[in-house]
Amino acid sequence: MSDAPSHPTLDDALRPLAMRLRAARRVVALTGAGVSAESGLRTFRGGDDTLLPPDMRALWAEFDPTTLATPEAFEADPERVSRWYDWRRLGCLAAEPNPGHLALARLERELATRGGTCTILTQNVDRLHQRAGSVDVVELHGTILVWRCTRTGQRVTPEPTPMPAFPAPSPFAPGALLRPDVVWFGEMLPEDALARAAEVSTECDVFLSLGTSAMVYPAAGFVRLAASHGAFTGEINLDATPASGGVDVSVRAKTGQAMPRLVELAFGAG
Ligand code: NAD
Repeated sequence: MSDAPSHPTLDDALRPLAMRLRAARRVVALTGAGVSAESGLRTFRGGDDTLLPPDMRALWAEFDPTTLATPEAFEADPERVSRWYDWRRLGCLAAEPNPGHLALARLERELATRGGTCTILTQNVDRLHQRAGSVDVVELHGTILVWRCTRTGQRVTPEPTPMPAFPAPSPFAPGALLRPDVVWFGEMLPEDALARAAEVSTECDVFLSLGTSAMVYPAAGFVRLAASHGAFTGEINLDATPASGGVDVSVRAKTGQAMPRLVELAFGAG
C-alpha cells in the first residue's frame, strides 16, 4: 500500500456536480470567454497570462475597452472600431468548437432524452456553442458574426472575408453605417434574452457558471438568482472569481477538460 498523500483529483471535485446533473430536469449554463479560450479565442480578462506572447493575452491587457467597445468609441472613430471588430469576427469564423462546447451540446442531448433541458446563457459572441450542436442558446451580448444598420437596425451577415470598406456603409440607408450586432459597454442587453435568462435561472435545478470572470452584470447576477430559487450551483474556472465563494461547488480547471469529464461522470462514456 502506498503511503503517498492523496490529492483530490478533478473527478473528486466534479462528482458532486455530476450527481446533481444526473438527477436534474432543468439545467442552465452561463458561459463566458474562458469557454472559447481553448478554441484559440482570447478572453477579455484572463488572469495572470504575462508569460504568454502578446497575441494570446487577454484582449483588455492589450487594448483599451473605452476606445473600442462603447457607442462613443464607434462615433469618434468608426473606422478603427470596425477594423478591430472585423479582425475579431474573422478570428471567430476561423475558430473551431472545443471539447467544452461539445460536452455542453452532449449534455443538452442527454437531458432531452430524459425529458429535460439545458439552456446556455452565453456572453460569447462567437456562435461556437451553436456550431458545436447546442440548440437552446440565449445570446446575452449578441453576436459578432452579424452586423446591423446604425439607422434602421436591419441585420446582415457579412461574407467570411474582410469587409470591403472601413467603416462599412449600410446597404439599407444612405449615409448610415454597419456596426457589429454586439452589446457594447453602456448599452442595454436585448430584452428578450434578458427575460428568458431570468426565467430559466429561477426555474432550474442546476446552474453552472463556466469560464466567466463573473464581473459583467447583469449576466454575473444570474447565478445568485438561481441559488436564491433553490438551484444547486457550480462553477468551473481556471481562477477564483467573485462567484466562487457563493456557489455550492467551485472547480479550478479548464472547461475543455472538465466539461467532457463532468458529462461522462453523469451519463457515462458518450
Ligand atoms: P472574461 O474575459 O472577463 O473572463 C474570462 C474568464 O475565463 C476568466 O475568469 C478566466 O480565468 C477564465 N478562463 C480562461 N481560460 C479558461 C479555460 N480554458 N477554462 C475555464 N476558464 C477559463 O470573459 P467574460 O466573463 O465572458 O466577460 C464578459 C465579456 O467577454 C462579454 O462581454 C463577452 O462578450 C466578452 N468576450 C467574448 C469573447 C468570445 O465571444 N469568444 C471573447 C472575449 C470577450
